[in-house]
Amino acid sequence: MKKIVLGLLVVWMAALTADLSAKSGPGPKKSGKCAVKNVIYMIGDGMGLSQVSMMMLENGYRPTAFDRSGNIALIKTYSANNRVTDSAAAGTALASGNKTDNGMLGMGPDGQVFKSIMERAKEEGYQTGLVVTVYLQHATPGAFFAHVPSRGDLDVISEQFVESGVDVALGGGKKFLQEGQKDGKPLIDALKTKDYRVVYDMNELNGVDRGKVVGLFADEYMPTVMKGRDENYLCNATKKALEILSNNAAGSKKGFMVMIEGSQIDSEGHANNAEGILAETRDFERAVGAAMDFADTHPGTLVVVTADHETSGLSITSNKTDFTLSESGIGYQFGTTGHTGTLVPVYLYGACADRINGIMDNTDLPKEIAALMRLK
Ligand SMILES: [Zn+2]
Repeated sequence: MKKIVLGLLVVWMAALTADLSAKSGPGPKKSGKCAVKNVIYMIGDGMGLSQVSMMMLENGYRPTAFDRSGNIALIKTYSANNRVTDSAAAGTALASGNKTDNGMLGMGPDGQVFKSIMERAKEEGYQTGLVVTVYLQHATPGAFFAHVPSRGDLDVISEQFVESGVDVALGGGKKFLQEGQKDGKPLIDALKTKDYRVVYDMNELNGVDRGKVVGLFADEYMPTVMKGRDENYLCNATKKALEILSNNAAGSKKGFMVMIEGSQIDSEGHANNAEGILAETRDFERAVGAAMDFADTHPGTLVVVTADHETSGLSITSNKTDFTLSESGIGYQFGTTGHTGTLVPVYLYGACADRINGIMDNTDLPKEIAALMRLK
């Protein structure tokens, strides 16, 4: 009897193992040629799985843009000197494929310069863009063009922004470009001599459909949605950036790379403001939907949606006494006012989306994107 049971157990275990190997782990990556022309790289700052789960739950599980992605990965976020990263080190990892110490931007712990995939794309003739709700000199956008030992070196970052050649940049940070000087002139004038149109609100931006443009919509941070930012700003700015970049790239074999950041999911996380996290994640989600719609109608476009780290240790509990957004008795609790070290998700959509999957390091993601773009 014992032998029979053992025998059955072995057969059952073997079947289970076979089943598991078929279903779990990184799926077999498809081989053969696959090339990406346009990359829409979207980063929800501070957006862990809990923040995405909260949005899905509060939407009553109606399908979100995130649900459209059939290809998922998870990334490790630790920095070179800390298990819990900041946005500068994580941005550097996601932009260049290299770990650095917290606080450093586009530069290694020993001061070595790390070129971002956006800078490499620029050199090879791609159009480039940045769309954020913080100032353009902030850590996440800065990681794509700046190289400084400290993310707080806003004057240097502003100068490097002007020299970056980025074609479309939308966000805050007007003050640093007005006050910063180069050769006795405000940096904002230097932009104009480099053939940029500089616009100061979305109406003005809507009159632009091609060329180089910088939209400066706030002195420093744009307001959060809770404090009055248009809840469709990121979505509308994303659509406009995609229109301008694709018009600029028309007729060229090279397309564009744009980084779009849901910047203030993080700040609302630091404030432990559940309602604010939801509002910012929803704005980001609408932008993700717009990017996916663009990919549907523009073959060769890859959308990569991820986060730099999770913020606030958000947990979704059944607790009627806590702050409740929904009528369902769901509570939102916070483990910290800082960042956490949990894995964050990657959602892939569009061209070659099935080439990236599994559990990987945050530094692997830009390497995979660069390979799909055939960057040298
Ligand atoms: Zn943060």
